[in-house]
Amino acid sequence: MQTPAPFGYERATSVDHAIQLLEQLGPEARLVAGGHSLLPMMKIRLAQPEHLIDINPLAAELGSISIDGDSLVIGAMTRHNDLLASPLVGEHFPILQDAERVIADPVVRNRGTVGGSLCQADPAEDLSAALSALHATATIRGSSGSRSVPVRELHVGPYETVVGDAEILTEIRVPIRNGCGSAYEKVERRVGDWAIASAAAVVWMDGGIITDAGVGLAAVGADHFVSPAAEAALRGQQPTEDVIVAAAAAAAAECNPSTDQRGPAEYKRHLAGELTARALRRAVARAQGGQ
Ligand SMILES: Cc1cc2nc3c(=O)[nH]c(=O)nc-3n(C[C@H](O)[C@H](O)[C@H](O)COP(=O)(O)OP(=O)(O)OC[C@H]3O[C@@H](n4cnc5c(N)ncnc54)[C@H](O)[C@@H]3O)c2cc1C
Repeated sequence: MQTPAPFGYERATSVDHAIQLLEQLGPEARLVAGGHSLLPMMKIRLAQPEHLIDINPLAAELGSISIDGDSLVIGAMTRHNDLLASPLVGEHFPILQDAERVIADPVVRNRGTVGGSLCQADPAEDLSAALSALHATATIRGSSGSRSVPVRELHVGPYETVVGDAEILTEIRVPIRNGCGSAYEKVERRVGDWAIASAAAVVWMDGGIITDAGVGLAAVGADHFVSPAAEAALRGQQPTEDVIVAAAAAAAAECNPSTDQRGPAEYKRHLAGELTARALRRAVARAQGGQ
């Protein structure tokens, strides 16, 4: 039987209360959202927080999806399933629903949250790759106020983020720009599993030219979940097959996969390139009004 070490339990009643509890209880306290990453780690004692601060009562404050000016705003307590079902998300960023369809299973998606996923910072986390490709920003709040951090700068390494001990991620803001097309591709060993490799592609097009691009990668050791070389290969270009293949090759060359139970490094590198090309083709088609 797997049982966690003893811990204290508090329920936050507001974001300010959660921050106050984090400050009061110190660095051995942890927030718990969906609990789908933290609780399994506690059961095998990879994590042994002295206190859990339950932020599920903040679902009303942090659980909505809305448009604010020229951004889509996704609250940190938004459940995977809510992102998957949101017409607003589908209209603006189908990449997020492509990704959600292949994240875990319905039980995990019912409970797991966007904020928990990003803060867990698992190197195979699908939303980290998709939101990095979208050039989204994360809003992080502490007792001295809020700060905004690009999602691609949120992760400092596996299971490590820039969110401080007494801070909480409150929302993700995704800029809405004209001419956007986006798509996500993933290969896993079986349905509901973490990725062997996955790729996120976003293009912004004007007059048949890619004016800006985002290429995200998960599970293949890409720094900050992105491939700047692939993005540079796309900017200012027409989306021809040659350009797409060159960008995909740049993504494959830039990532740094390791051999493990999900496959050898060279297979993952091959997948990174192939999935980037497939995601780019679909993103371009969507930007041009297809699919
Ligand atoms: C069987 C299984 C399969 C899975 N498959 C996939 C998959 O294929 N792809 C994928 O991407 N994910 C997968 N996941 C992970 C899943 O998406 C989890 O829901 C997610 O990783 C964590 O979200 P959570 O809300 O459960 O976070 P929790 O477990 O509650 O928290 C995770 C961490 O984030 C911190 N945290 C939570 N919310 C905040 C916040 N607002 N501010 C600051 N810190 C916060 C917690 O303190 C903790 O350290 C899988 C999980 C399981 C159990």
